[in-house]
Amino acid sequence: MSFGGADLHFHSDFSDGVESPAELVLRAVAAGLSVAALTDHDAVHGVAAFEAAAVGTGLVAVGGAELSVDDGGEDIHILGLFLDPEEPALIERLIWFRQVRDERGAAMVEKLAALGVALDLPAIRATVGAGAFGRPHVARAMVAKGVVQSVGEAFDRYLGDGGPAFVPKAKWGLDEAIVAVRRAGGLAVLAHPVWYRDPGELLRRGRELGLDGVEAFHPDNDGLEEDFASEAAGLGLFVTAGSDFHSSTDGGRTLGARRLGEKLWEKVAEAATVRRREAGRPVLDLSPR
Ligand code: AMP
Ligand code: FE
Ligand code: FE
Ligand code: ZN
Repeated sequence: MSFGGADLHFHSDFSDGVESPAELVLRAVAAGLSVAALTDHDAVHGVAAFEAAAVGTGLVAVGGAELSVDDGGEDIHILGLFLDPEEPALIERLIWFRQVRDERGAAMVEKLAALGVALDLPAIRATVGAGAFGRPHVARAMVAKGVVQSVGEAFDRYLGDGGPAFVPKAKWGLDEAIVAVRRAGGLAVLAHPVWYRDPGELLRRGRELGLDGVEAFHPDNDGLEEDFASEAAGLGLFVTAGSDFHSSTDGGRTLGARRLGEKLWEKVAEAATVRRREAGRPVLDLSPR
């Protein structure tokens, strides 16, 4: 069978995506993907269900997470790909981040109440379930209540950075995030580089700290994707691709909208196999199941 590409960045209902890991496997297969990596914000506990659902489908299911880093006041996202979801230090740190995300969610709901927007916190927490509480959960509740027409409007008017109901979030340090990913046997990748003030400086500094790759192919990088890919190659960093899919209604991004071709995928897969061995984590099985 020919290679259908690798989408290495999207979210399930274990963070701020809407679909379950099993539903995402069906969506990935329907999109013709050969490889798919689940990268929930601050969560790896959806990976087991994701891998289990892929058995018998022919999809190579990869585990990961997306970590929010505070780098001198700038919000930077690091993808940890291929990491072992059972690695104890990572699990413990992620549990702490999800706890403070829950407190922050409650604080945002309180701010909204003070602004005259009354939301049902227990009902929102029910939609979060065992996952990571994020602003999209609050935004969707506002849409359901008719306070705003769309998730985008909720961010523009209330929840966006510096908005009236915004509450900052606890974040990783850049060094700390890269070390945690590598210790768990994963590759550390700079997500959507177009977001940052000086992506080139960040890539060079990140590389000194052990950064492995760059998500050159991401919907937000539009027009600059090949530039980021050459920059990565010049620095000896791997290139990855991801759709950043969250839901079929929130943002217009579709699963598989960005895919890594076979040659680049093989480079990444080989590096991941080596990293697992170096970190003393279980051997990766990247054969279709
Ligand atoms: P949080 O991690 O709770 O700060 O929420 C950040 C998440 O909100 C991102 O990962 C996106 O899923 C989503 N998001 C951020 N900005 C917007 C926006 N302007 N419109 C819709 N969703 C957004
Ligand atoms: Fe998100
Ligand atoms: Fe991100
Ligand atoms: Zn993402």
